[in-house]
Amino acid sequence: MNKNKFEELLSTSNLSGDNANYLEQLYDSYLAQLEDGTKDWQTYFESLNSPANNPANSSEKTKEVSHHLIREAFLEIAKKPRYINNSSNASNSLGNADSILSHERKQVSVLRLIQAYRQVGHLMADINPLDSIQAQEKSIDELKLSHYDLSLDDKSSVFSTHGGLGMESGTLSQIEAALKKTYCGSLGAEFMHIANETERQWVQMRLERHHSQLQISNDEKIALLKKVTAAEGLERYLHTKYVGQKRFGLEGGDSLIPMLDTMIYRSGAQGIREIGLGMAHRGRLNVLVNILGKQPKELFQEFEGKLQIELGTGDVKYHQGFSSDIRTEGGDVHLALGFNPSHLEIVCPVVQGSVRARQERRGDKDRNEVLSILIHGDAAFAGQGVVTETFNMSQTRGYKTGGALHVVINNQIGFTTSNPLDSRSSLYCTDVAKMIQAPILHVNGDDPEAVLLAAQIAVDYRMTFHKDIVIDLVCYRRHGHNEADEPAATQPMMYKKIRKHPTTRTLYSQKLINEGILTPEQDKLMVDEYRNHLEAGDAVVPLLDENTSGFVVDWKVYLNHEWTVEWESPITKERLMELGEKLYTIPENMQLQAQVKKVMADRLLMARDEKDVDWGFAENLAYASILDEGHSIRLSGQDCGRGTFSHRQAVLHDQQDGRLHVPLRNIPTKNKLTDFLVIDSLLSEEAVLGFEYGYATAEPRSLVIWEAQFGDFANGAQVVIDQFISSGEHKWGRLCGLVMLLPHGYEGMGPEHSSARLERYLQLCAEHNIQVCVPTNASQIFHLLRRQILRPYRRPLIVMTPKSLLRHKLAVSSLDDLLDDHFRLVIPEIDDLNEADVTRVILCSGKVYYDLLQKRRERKLNNIAIIRIEQLYPFPENVLRAIMDHYNHVEDVIWCQEEPQNQGAWYQSQHHLRSSLKPHQNLRYVGRKASAAAAVGYLAVHIKEQAKLVEEALAQ
Ligand code: AMP
Repeated sequence: MNKNKFEELLSTSNLSGDNANYLEQLYDSYLAQLEDGTKDWQTYFESLNSPANNPANSSEKTKEVSHHLIREAFLEIAKKPRYINNSSNASNSLGNADSILSHERKQVSVLRLIQAYRQVGHLMADINPLDSIQAQEKSIDELKLSHYDLSLDDKSSVFSTHGGLGMESGTLSQIEAALKKTYCGSLGAEFMHIANETERQWVQMRLERHHSQLQISNDEKIALLKKVTAAEGLERYLHTKYVGQKRFGLEGGDSLIPMLDTMIYRSGAQGIREIGLGMAHRGRLNVLVNILGKQPKELFQEFEGKLQIELGTGDVKYHQGFSSDIRTEGGDVHLALGFNPSHLEIVCPVVQGSVRARQERRGDKDRNEVLSILIHGDAAFAGQGVVTETFNMSQTRGYKTGGALHVVINNQIGFTTSNPLDSRSSLYCTDVAKMIQAPILHVNGDDPEAVLLAAQIAVDYRMTFHKDIVIDLVCYRRHGHNEADEPAATQPMMYKKIRKHPTTRTLYSQKLINEGILTPEQDKLMVDEYRNHLEAGDAVVPLLDENTSGFVVDWKVYLNHEWTVEWESPITKERLMELGEKLYTIPENMQLQAQVKKVMADRLLMARDEKDVDWGFAENLAYASILDEGHSIRLSGQDCGRGTFSHRQAVLHDQQDGRLHVPLRNIPTKNKLTDFLVIDSLLSEEAVLGFEYGYATAEPRSLVIWEAQFGDFANGAQVVIDQFISSGEHKWGRLCGLVMLLPHGYEGMGPEHSSARLERYLQLCAEHNIQVCVPTNASQIFHLLRRQILRPYRRPLIVMTPKSLLRHKLAVSSLDDLLDDHFRLVIPEIDDLNEADVTRVILCSGKVYYDLLQKRRERKLNNIAIIRIEQLYPFPENVLRAIMDHYNHVEDVIWCQEEPQNQGAWYQSQHHLRSSLKPHQNLRYVGRKASAAAAVGYLAVHIKEQAKLVEEALAQ
């Protein structure tokens, strides 16, 4: 059929928008090269791709018509009005006007019934392995014929399906059977909440074309059974060999293994070259061995306590990450399973960040080369807020990864909580995914074929629409939370059922034996073969020796450095001025808001060395110089484009038309992947910080910065700080150069916006795990940011950043100060005091320094020297000691802080201070008294307190 003939048909037949589904099926069949009567259409589909219709494709006629063309064609068809189908046998046979009317009414009812199955068929689906019978007996009114005034008498009448269900028309009996098979079998699909019609119809078509039945050959069924055998075989082996040892076994959720295998190989065939996986402990050992190819002998050594990995503290085996490389039909694929702590779901944003970094490394703008697969637990998926935050990020510009495949291992129990009346308020544990309109496929874990179908649909949906999709793998947990736990104590009824319940493998092998595909002997052989393979100890999946993609990062250059490592990257004044000029020469047609215009004009003067450099300029110039040296920058946080206190102005907004101008994008970069990205983040701390951690651990060549709106907001991301940032390297050997900018300073803003909780970071410090700095002037932030990326040392950097100091007249620097290539760990007295006259030394950090300095100058107290500690960890004892050598005669040494005594640096850093002093020097505390809250709520009280502590420090 040619195109003209097709259009003629459109105007004369019942071909209409309602048939778009049917057409998609035809197209789909055509793609699958099925001989099912699609010949007529082949010419049409091929014509869509002909040079006349598609000039882009003038080469040899290809079988594959691009999806966007076919979708556009369907949308056109969908817009056309529907023509009444007078040609159906049924209506012809009725023969009179009344019966035609009655039949038309029933036709409408049938269409409503079809629609109802699409909408709520999942409620009756047989998705729960422990409750199969109950599901079938569920009574859903909307799915009953009587609900639509249809009865048994109508069962043999023929109705149109309007292109659905893989048929054009059928008897009501046939239609109902097809609906039950499609929507109430082992796969219950939720997709009608998707607003986008193309996506919704795509899912519908995928389910209906073969009535949710997987189309695979007998050989493929055997291969599927082998994967289930591997899943069960490993658990059985470990269960008998390492009795009672914790492994958080997969038993009950065994279909996860064939599901992941399908996801990986199918996406590999479609062009995916790297996959980041995230999962919690349940089933992790199984995934490590049967998917990632960890050698069983290595795992056994861990069980036997023989394997000691050369790391600081190390971690338990079910938190370990792993990397491997496999070959798929479409090319080689690198697999990276992220390390994770016990805090469920927190690894999800981390993996997303890592995947985004890998996409950017490859220049994978369309996100067709790197994929995330995130595996969740049912209780955690519904319970943990970070899941919602991660979904909320999934389509945003700064955090999207082109759609993650989510798998929920739904074993219908948390630790001991299984009653949905206690565990959630939603119908399904997956309801949270509806917030982003993700399709949700609930699938019975005891039906590996349905599981495989779900996996295929998930991969194809993600690759077509670049959006998240969720598979709810409904299964059970054969043992307790861990193997030493007795589940029957709290779930007696559930575990009575589970104990009698045959394993997934038993059920599936029996099915294949019944179908004559497998003999009992072959079945046994398969089990034995896997066991022998395990016992041999080598990887049970075929792996490649190395990653040859050319996108491998060489982390060796960052390993084994002390924090004092020397580095050099001098910059000339001329280059600095050029960069400043480039940044702040704003396009002439840009109309800036008045204050911003003034800031930009001032910055141009700073760039020309005609004005002292302030914090905002120094920070931006640091970024410019870093880009200039060939590194990318990723800066994200709440309102960080402008900066909470309007100091950054990294994104300029034209006041006439809202156009944006990002000055740092004007810096020519040395390599094409270098980029400056500044992102005003969603209002999340936990997921966003997790994401940035993941990004930074995957890309050491990029300066990755997260900024808190106020420093104390980081409280919402405490898990990321404790479990990843401060301890990741020592647990897992993963370096991370992430920077956290945390506004901190006591300025009378109340208990919440004064403190970034410096004490918390200092308390986490050990083994040089992180760096904690409190820079106090413009040149210091310039050098600190440059140091972080330019020296070959990747440790997290926590910076207490200022608020009022951003505009403090004493916190400025000269352009020349930016040339001295050092961040100063300790800044000695700056005034020209006679050292011999000094009788007291005040040590301090941060903003209080300027209060002390100003008051001392005002009172001309030349006997007091004030020294600023700019890096509190690793504490620069040698540097402070050298400075204190000038004051050997002084006995009175004060640590002065504006934070309450139980907060700030006093308790955490005094041992370092003391060890830098001479034995005869006496260190005492001056500052606010201990307090439950971080600061007082009243400005007047704050001012009084601040004046008092300055007074006390300077008292003669
Ligand atoms: P991946 O691409 O995550 O699979 O990592 C590949 C290899 O690079 C790992 O096996 C490590 O040897 C190394 N590597 C990856 N990330 C880091 C990191 N953050 N710190 C140190 N080494 C890393």
